[in-house]
Amino acid sequence: MGYFLRLTEKNGYDSLSWIFQMADVNHEGTRPAYILAFEAPERLTGLAQLAGINLIELIQLTHQRLLGNPSTPLHYFFGQPVTQDLIRSNRPKICPDCLSESPYCRRVWELSALTACPTHRRLLIDECPKCKRQISWSRKIVTVCSCKFDWRESPASSVVEQGLRLTRHIYQLCGLPVAGEAQPKLPEPISKLSLNDLLLALFFVAGQQRGFSAATSRHLVAAGKSKNFHRLLTEAYSVFDNWPVNYFRFLDQRRAQERKVTRTYQRMKSTLYREFGSFYSGLHSVLSGSQFDFIRGVFVEYLTQKRMLDCLPDTMSNNPIEDSLKSRYVLKSDARRLTGADYAWINHCIRIGRLRTIVRSKGKKRLIFIKVEDVAKLRSEY
Ligand SMILES: [Zn+2]
Ligand SMILES: [Zn+2]
Repeated sequence: MGYFLRLTEKNGYDSLSWIFQMADVNHEGTRPAYILAFEAPERLTGLAQLAGINLIELIQLTHQRLLGNPSTPLHYFFGQPVTQDLIRSNRPKICPDCLSESPYCRRVWELSALTACPTHRRLLIDECPKCKRQISWSRKIVTVCSCKFDWRESPASSVVEQGLRLTRHIYQLCGLPVAGEAQPKLPEPISKLSLNDLLLALFFVAGQQRGFSAATSRHLVAAGKSKNFHRLLTEAYSVFDNWPVNYFRFLDQRRAQERKVTRTYQRMKSTLYREFGSFYSGLHSVLSGSQFDFIRGVFVEYLTQKRMLDCLPDTMSNNPIEDSLKSRYVLKSDARRLTGADYAWINHCIRIGRLRTIVRSKGKKRLIFIKVEDVAKLRSEY
């Protein structure tokens, strides 16, 4: 997109859309121009001719879709496959200092989670400081707003060190060097995640911190302004620091937050769902991949350490269990989710005594509870 904006400026056109009309990419006139960033190669021929560049070079500027047909299409972003909603070409952001050094839009700014410039240690802006309108692609000059304000003169907004860490992490994954800086030290548990997985985990946690449901957190978070977004993601990133201390604190907060809402937790029939709400269900849906196993594993550790007496449903509390003061139990269905094993294996482990159980009846139903510490042990060996 930035490339065509420069072309617009060089040729003195009124706006970006002129170029698209001439090249006949956007002939319906109804599709927003940013879609171009995801355009299929065969539709780019006209543009390449008009711009006088090689088609291959032009394709390299777009976020090409991966071949194959996964349930959610992936696009290449600096060689990293990511879902399309993570690339936000429709909401341009800029670093005023980068533009001062060289007036063109950096492609990495199109990533929704990138909210700061590590070189100039300042926030990217997505809103004109003068007219307060959202920065748009429909402008004549790369560095100047339609209100005539030159963004290179935007007031500085410094970022604390903590706020730059995610940015550096993203740069590293994209293979982009940061001038004058060594490779950043990444938080250990998330240092091996791909860009897509890292952002999936961060958006999930950020959504949880704001009380959004697991499935929609990414979309809800993405609706906000870049500034708010920066704060949210910086907070979410720190959950993975000082592992697992900060994560435990996050779980404490999440439980406290969940106590304030009334939910029908019958859906999963699990007290863990009542305690942790969509965080618990999200652990097994949004973050179901084995690369996120460390998040589940330490969650079980949390359960064993926290002496959660209320892991047993309320109906059980007037039915004291001999060692309930020391131990905590979870439902058999929870044990299955938390270990990722199937029922056959769980039953086998119960038979050979590796999982210790207690049985309580509720109406006509028999409920089987399993010791959390046994679940943790089984997980570590599994
Ligand atoms: Zn910059
Ligand atoms: Zn303006």
